[in-house]
Amino acid sequence: MTDHILDFLDATFPFGDLDLVSFDAPIPDHWHEFAEAKGFELLRRVRDRNHLELRCNQCDGTMICKIYTLRTAQPICPHCQKARWQALCEEAGVRFLGRGDRANYLRVQLPCGHETSRQQELLERVRRRTTAIRCEACLEARMQAEARARGWELIGDDPDGHLSYRLYRHACRYIQRVAVANMTTGRFTCRNCSEGWLNDRSYIYMMRFVLKSGRDAIKVGFSRDPASRLRHQLVTERDQDALLIRSIEVPTGREAIELEKALHTTLRRQHPDAELDRMEFAAEVNVVSELYDAKIEAEITALLDRIEIRLKRRARRREKRRLKRLRRRLEQSQAPACPAATDKLSPPDQE
Ligand SMILES: [Zn+2]
Ligand SMILES: [Zn+2]
Ligand SMILES: [Zn+2]
Repeated sequence: MTDHILDFLDATFPFGDLDLVSFDAPIPDHWHEFAEAKGFELLRRVRDRNHLELRCNQCDGTMICKIYTLRTAQPICPHCQKARWQALCEEAGVRFLGRGDRANYLRVQLPCGHETSRQQELLERVRRRTTAIRCEACLEARMQAEARARGWELIGDDPDGHLSYRLYRHACRYIQRVAVANMTTGRFTCRNCSEGWLNDRSYIYMMRFVLKSGRDAIKVGFSRDPASRLRHQLVTERDQDALLIRSIEVPTGREAIELEKALHTTLRRQHPDAELDRMEFAAEVNVVSELYDAKIEAEITALLDRIEIRLKRRARRREKRRLKRLRRRLEQSQAPACPAATDKLSPPDQE
């Protein structure tokens, strides 16, 4: 405990862990009077010509004090000070742990068990019940839980610096700043989802990042606008070595999610060692996971080829069916119609 108090005033020290060597020199009478007037008993000179050992009349604790301090100021007994801090904390409903790392701050344990540093002045207001202590750790956990319940993830402070806002990532991967109060009440929408992206055309993309570690990494994912996702959401630096190498059109965002999920499941199963550890790229690419070592680029490409072929075949089948239906409807509605008109509706690339 002494080490927290040792440097609390450069003039007063608790007795104990210092090598207390007597300094052999006479003590002028008026020094005793100074000490008495300030609530201390002068025991002896110690360490060097500038220091004294005092005993506090309040608590009987001993301390070292500079002669200069004794003469010009009111020395503060560290033992009494600690007792005052302990009492303050107790009355404020927290546990005193020691001096804080900044002037006028105390290290305390909150009722929830978290440890923190708080200004003495704040603790005094808490004692007077004019304010309450909020635990940032608990608040963060609560905000994270609130976000999760709405399908969001709290990922950081507001980039614009607003204290009432935080940065969140939606289940759709879109990153957006949201007022904390709105996250609590749910009175907001994801800008990405609210625009109907689930039904809109989307893309499965493949990007290459050259990490600072020198490693080539591949990211696969889906987005309604892969180029914009790369530029505005994924890269953390303007001149980052990142390239969009492929986009496959998918009719709807809903299907893109499914395809992407299946893609990652396959890649993880077939190449469990190729998924990069987040620690390696966290500072360079804004994603939680799904970055692969470029050594499996060919395998990823092959999977994407399969997806693309499947989607194209299906699109052709659908188009054929659509034209067939159209033709049939035309035939039914105008039985004696000109045959040339229906011929024009034949698909251009019959297979
Ligand atoms: Zn004292
Ligand atoms: Zn807490
Ligand atoms: Zn969304």
